[in-house]
Order: sequence, then C-alpha cells, then structure tokens
Amino acid sequence: MKRKWLLSLSMMSLFVFSSCESNGYHFYENFPQGYVVSSVDVDPAVAELPTQNIETSNNHHDYNKYYEEDHITYDYKPKEEQEALLGPFLALTFDDGPHHSVTPFLLDALYERGVPATFFLIGHYAYRHPNIVERIHNEGHLIGNHSFSHGNFTRISLDDVYVEIAATNAILYNITGQTPTLLRPPYGAHNEDVLQIAKYFDLAISLWSVDPRDWYHEDAYAVFEHIISHYRENSVILLHDIYESSAVAAIMAVDYFLEKGYIFVTVDELYNRLGFVMNAGAVHRSPYRDGSNLVLLED
Ligand SMILES: [Zn+2]
Repeated sequence: MKRKWLLSLSMMSLFVFSSCESNGYHFYENFPQGYVVSSVDVDPAVAELPTQNIETSNNHHDYNKYYEEDHITYDYKPKEEQEALLGPFLALTFDDGPHHSVTPFLLDALYERGVPATFFLIGHYAYRHPNIVERIHNEGHLIGNHSFSHGNFTRISLDDVYVEIAATNAILYNITGQTPTLLRPPYGAHNEDVLQIAKYFDLAISLWSVDPRDWYHEDAYAVFEHIISHYRENSVILLHDIYESSAVAAIMAVDYFLEKGYIFVTVDELYNRLGFVMNAGAVHRSPYRDGSNLVLLED
C-alpha cells in the first residue's frame, strides 16, 4: 500500500486546471512536466518540499468597483471585546486557494477587521504559494485540507484519496508546522470509504450550511444577497478565494454582520465555543438552533 501511494504521488504533476465545482475533473488525464513529489509519506515530517515560486501579492485590480458610492463603512468593536461575547457566531470558509492575488487581498481586509476565517487549501496551490499559506496561518486563520488536486474522492481510487490527503497534509505541515484537523473533500463528495480514510488521518469532515454558488455567479452583490438571505446563527458559509467577486462579497458580508453584532470564528472554534466536538471521520455542516435546542446539522 505504501509503495503504491508513493508511486501515485510521484506522478503528481503541477498543472493548471479549472478548479471549483463548475468543472469536470481532469487531473489523471494530464501529467505535464514539472512538479514531482517523491518523498511524501503518511508521516508529514518526511516531506522535504522546497519553498519556492514565491509570488508577490501585488494586485492592480480596482476592487472598489464592486461597491456603490454610498457604501457605508462601520466602526467595529475591538477583537478582545468581540471574543468575550458568546455569540451569535458565523464561520466564513474559503475553498480552492491560495490564490496569488485574491487571497492576499482578502487577508488584508480580514486583518483590518480582526476577523478570522477558515481556508481549505488545495495542496499544489499551497506548494506554489507557501508565503501566502504562512500568512494565513500567522494571521490566526484556520487551515484545512481540500485535497492536492481537487479530485472527486468518490470517483478516484481509495489509494488516490490517501495520496490526495497525505500530500496536502505534508505540504501544509511543512509550511505551518501544523497538521490539519479538518478535511473538506472537493465538491463535498464523500462516501463511507472516504470517511474511514479521513478518520485514519484524524480529520473531521467540514462541509457548509450556506452555499451562495459564488463560482457560478461571480457577482459580489448576488453572492452577498444570497448570504444575508440564507444565513442563520452559526452558519458555515462556503466561498472561494479564487474570485475577486467572492472576496468582495465576503468583505461586504463581514461588514454587514459585524454591524449586527455577529462574531466570526474559525470552524473548529465555532464547535468548541458551543460545546461540540468535531469527530474525525464524521461529517459536519454547522450547529444551529432548533427552537431552544442547539443541534448539529450533519449528513
Ligand atoms: Zn473546491
């Protein structure tokens, strides 16, 4: 088994693919020249991946174009004051990054507002942008595993599922010194076998409860409107930090909900604060209130 993982992993090549839920999965038909990982095992410590290809976060886009002229800016409570409160909570999650320009732009905005989020990173993008991964980690956000190549875990072999998870864990460990505790399988696709593999890696499955389909709209206002009309207390909101429009929608939502008194937390903290444990191998969407009871929205 181990030999097979290594063999599969050595075939993993860096390539450009259309990520996200709108496109098919082409990884195994495409093995261009380039990136080869040959020493990754289940133990992340053995992965010695060089840090390179560091891209600067310069971006020259006019993100303000998404705002109307009369967009209101608000004053916020200091982070310490926010954290002293017991809710209501929301968790923003960003999949498919890190992106060389959108992610730093988003990080700037979150930093200014003292808002933490959860980033489910794709392994080979993380490998290409270690400086951004480091920044996400250093600025207090939570990093989860979103596979190495965005494969659909229910359509590839179980060996390949192992490799997708192991490689990404290794890359993230190599950059941050921490092994992820959360897994978000691409497309949310999972079955019993996938859950067992997640359990083997001590990973809780983290899905979402609000999906504005930002990849489909690529329209900040449409995404923002969806979020504010579908959220409830403790929602876990799915966005993708590979679209400018999604980052802008996230910032608009942050401003909107901070004004309403909501507290943004990472997914693990959302569960911790409410007294829930995120179990490895189990699927979690969000905790929510059903009448006076707080219950878990699971599969
Ligand atoms: Zn994804």
